[in-house]
This record gives sequence, structure tokens and C-alpha cells, in this order.
Amino acid sequence: TYETINIQTSQVNDHSTQSAQQIVTHLRHTFRSNKTRSLKWRRSQLNAMERLLRDHADTLTRAVRNDFDKPISETMLMEINLILEEIRFVRPRLAHWSARRMKPIHWLLQPATGWTVAEPKGVALVISPWNYPILLSLEPMVDAIAAGNCVCLKPSELSPATSQTLADLIPRYLDRDAFAVIQGGPHETSKLLDQSFDHIFYTGGGRVGSIVMAAAAKQLTPVTLELGGKSPVFVDRTANLDVAAKRIAWGRFINAGQTCVAPDYVLATSDIADDLAQRIARATKLFFGNNPQQSNSYARIINERHYDRLMSLMPRADDPSSAAHVVCGGTGDRSDRYIAPTVLTHVSASAPVMQEEIFGPILPVIEIADAASAIAFINARPRPLACYVFSRRRTVRRLFERETSSGALGFNLPLGHLISSRLPFGGVGASGMGSYHGYAGFLEFSHVKTVISKPAFPDTLALVYPAYDNIKRML
Ligand code: NAD
Repeated sequence: TYETINIQTSQVNDHSTQSAQQIVTHLRHTFRSNKTRSLKWRRSQLNAMERLLRDHADTLTRAVRNDFDKPISETMLMEINLILEEIRFVRPRLAHWSARRMKPIHWLLQPATGWTVAEPKGVALVISPWNYPILLSLEPMVDAIAAGNCVCLKPSELSPATSQTLADLIPRYLDRDAFAVIQGGPHETSKLLDQSFDHIFYTGGGRVGSIVMAAAAKQLTPVTLELGGKSPVFVDRTANLDVAAKRIAWGRFINAGQTCVAPDYVLATSDIADDLAQRIARATKLFFGNNPQQSNSYARIINERHYDRLMSLMPRADDPSSAAHVVCGGTGDRSDRYIAPTVLTHVSASAPVMQEEIFGPILPVIEIADAASAIAFINARPRPLACYVFSRRRTVRRLFERETSSGALGFNLPLGHLISSRLPFGGVGASGMGSYHGYAGFLEFSHVKTVISKPAFPDTLALVYPAYDNIKRML
């Protein structure tokens, strides 16, 4: 019941392993009852999620604003709206995706029939991060529900207002026997990871990703890892520089740069690098005004630790080894966790800002000779979650498509692939494994079972029984 789950949840927050175990046992019991398999139940839960989002869009967007001043409209556009669209996309397709798919059978086995059927994996654990705390909690849940699973959600402790709101609302709308929200940080998460799940869906940084995968390996639990990385942008002189600058600025500075698929750095051919950097700086003025700290369209950094980390990436005037030039920004206000949209040029590949995913409002622009050098630069580093190319040359775009590997590739458009339920979303190599959204998400939370059936009579299998003299004659 709801009360029991609530009591258990608070016990888990008191670090009791027993309670995490009880919650998962309860979810497993529900799954074994087979209620989550029916399409009617799945649709009813998707409808309930839709109602939750409609009834409480206000509460939810305000919770995210409390956590890090994310603009309300940004949360509406990039979180609530995307989950609603995902629900509307998967709901009418459930029956088709869950239906049997007949498959032709080898002549040696005839007469026989074969088919595949997608069955729910069972009880899924969804571990979500703080940067899009509603979207990255509920969108995986939509796909898990579509596939007929129970879900235990563990939202991020770094966005406590949103996590609490989700913990309050989910049991009020969704089936309390099939869904539980457990709050907490690393300690609670590691207790949860000791439990047995049928799938673990993790979104966050790679360091914790490998902790999650190691825990899953102990029980041979399949995982989806939605990680991050340094997503590059290549721009050459054939691009429409004005549009490129605006789109890059939008992708980099939305959510104050705390977006997994944000352009992390720009590789611009030497002839346009400075011009492009100036245009990106102008675009930030257009978007956020002369003083972005006063703009109500610009978010804050999630906490002081990340603020300090980001400020340490700024070029220092007293450091002669740093030749980087600040085109705009470069400043911050710790008491407000505000960092100005920052564009840097003349950045060397060995600068601190080029060593790890920035995950904040800083954009280094690096000069590069040409597309081939940019591809070599990208391929010398871990495979990114996304790669973006602004070039009118078809051959250049094809070259990137063929010779670089990334979770996704965008021509003239950062972030766009994240917005369509028709496009699988996920990483490759260091940026993750598995994918979701739409049918990809349905499959991620399903086991596609093979079924084969052969009548007892006539027993044509006699053709392959030993002794093998017959077979020799046939082959
Ligand atoms: P985070 O700190 O919120 O951590 C993510 C989750 O891991 C949280 O639920 C947290 O409680 C849990 N966690 C933290 N430490 C843990 C530990 N030691 N053991 C077990 N669980 C632990 O988020 P984050 O990692 O700061 O997120 C930022 C990263 O996530 C960036 O690298 C970003 O690119 C990536 N990201 C990826 C996607 C994607 O869709 N691929 C989306 C958003 C963010």
C-alpha cells in the first residue's frame, strides 16, 4: 500500500537495507501478479502520468526553479513538454509494439511456426541526475511503463525540491504497488544497487556510471548508461555564421550549460574562429541582455562545488601559460551561484578547460586547419555523446558521418535529436550504452522473446535424428 511504501521509503532514508529490500520485494510481487503486462494497465498509467504533468506543471516547474533557478519556460519547453510528447507518441503504438512478430522458419524444421514477442523485463531501477530532474526521471519511466515494468525511481539528491515533489506526486497518480520513489544520495543508491533488479537505467556522469555497472555485473543485471562527455562542434567558413553562432549559443547556454548534449567546445577553421566567437558573444547578449545575472531566462549553477570547479577553468591573468582570451563573460558571483556566459578563444588543447566535460556556461573556441584535422582531434579523444557540424559542404558532412563516432550527429543543429521520440537517444563508448525514447526505449525495457512451435505430427524432425546416414544424403 501507499502507506507501507512511504514508511519503507523513510526507513531507507534512515539507511536501512531491509527497507530497500522490502520495497523491491513488493514491486517484484506486483510484477509477478502479471497486472503490469496488460496493455490496459500500461495505458492507464501513461494517462495518469499525463494527468500528473498537467495538474502539477506549476508545482514541478517551481520546484526546479527552487533547485537552481531554472527558468520556468525552459522547464516547460525542455522537460514537461517533452515527456508529454513521449507519452503521446508511445501510447497509441503500444499494441503494435507488443504484438507477436511472425518469423519464417528454416525448411529443415517445417512444418513449424516462429515468432518474437516483447515481454517486460520486470522491476527496473531508474537513477536520475539533477540537471533535467523531471525529464530524466519521468521519460525513462514512460518507456518502462510502455514496456510493462514496475519502476523504482531514485532521483538526485542535488535537486532536492524536485526530488521531493516527484516523491509526493508519483504515489498520488501512479499505481502504488508498481512504482516507488526512493530519495537519497550515494549511500542510499549503493544500498539500492545491492538489490536485485531486472534492468538498471542510469543517467549521470561516467565515474558513477562505472560504479553502477560494477554493481549490476554482480547480479548480471542489464544496464542502460546515459553518460556525458565533451561534445564537439565543427564550423567552417561555408557555414551561415550568424545562424551557427545563435544555435551554438542556444545549445551551450541553455540551463547555464548544464546539458549533457550541449556543445562543449568549438573547432573552428582559423579563417573564421575569431569572427564566430564574436558572433556567439553577441548572441548571448541578444538572449540574456547586457547583464545576464538579471535575465529571467538564465539558470544558476547547481551548487558551490560545481561553481568552484567551473571558475577554476577560467583563464587566469596571472598564469603566463594560459594564452586564452576571454571574448565575453569570465566572471561569476559565488553568493548567487551565477557564472556569466563565457566565450574563450586561443584556447590550447592542453588547457584545463579541454580536459573534462565542462558542464557549465563556458565555451572554448579552438582554431583548427580543416575538417580532416578536426576529425583527427575528435577521434583522439573518448567518443562523445553528440557531435555537431556546421558546414554547407556535403562532402564535409559525409566525412564526419563516416569517420567520427558519437551518440548522435547533428548538422546545423545542437540538441535537436533529443527532442524527437522517433530518434533513439544514447551514447557510445565513454558516453554510454543503450538508448531510449520511443520504440528504442520500449525495446530497452523489454526482452524480445523468441517462440517456436512445431506440431507433433507429422514428426518430420525424424529427418535429423541419429543415425546420420539420412543427413549425409540430404546435405
Ligand atoms: P548526479 O550527481 O545527480 O548523479 C547522478 C545520480 O547518481 C544521482 O541520482 C546520484 O544520487 C547518484 N550517485 C551519485 N554518486 C553516487 C555513488 N557514489 N554511488 C551511487 N550513486 C551515486 O549527476 P551528475 O553525475 O553530476 O550528472 C552530470 C553528468 O550526467 C554529466 O556528465 C552529464 O553529461 C551527464 N548527463 C547525461 C545525460 C544523458 O542523457 N546522457 C543527461 C544528463 C546528464
